[in-house]
Amino acid sequence: MDNLKFSFQTGHIDIDYSKCKTCQSYGCFKACSLFGRNLFRIEDGRPVLVCSPEEARRLCNECLACEFYCKQYGSSALTIFLDNFGIDGDKKPGDERR
Ligand code: SF4
Ligand code: SF4
Repeated sequence: MDNLKFSFQTGHIDIDYSKCKTCQSYGCFKACSLFGRNLFRIEDGRPVLVCSPEEARRLCNECLACEFYCKQYGSSALTIFLDNFGIDGDKKPGDERR
């Protein structure tokens, strides 16, 4: 499978390039330029990073807009995984103060 995968501070982004072939909007690019850090450019009909994955990890502001725009206007190729969000399933907000 042909994917673009890169990390940010609390998770990672995975783009399934096979789905980008039918995209009419390039919503990921637009979203990141409007709300994020302008991390994508479109090359051969698919988004690529304008910087190294290490820089993208540092620069991404975790706005989540790219996933929303891809699902809303694109072909649902882009998925955000919040791997390190730090929520313990057994704890509820405020538990640590008790
Ligand atoms: S909006 Fe989604 S489907 Fe369209 S180019 Fe971006 S990642 Fe691919
Ligand atoms: S989460 Fe925001 S800053 Fe990060 S890649 Fe997506 S749109 Fe860009």
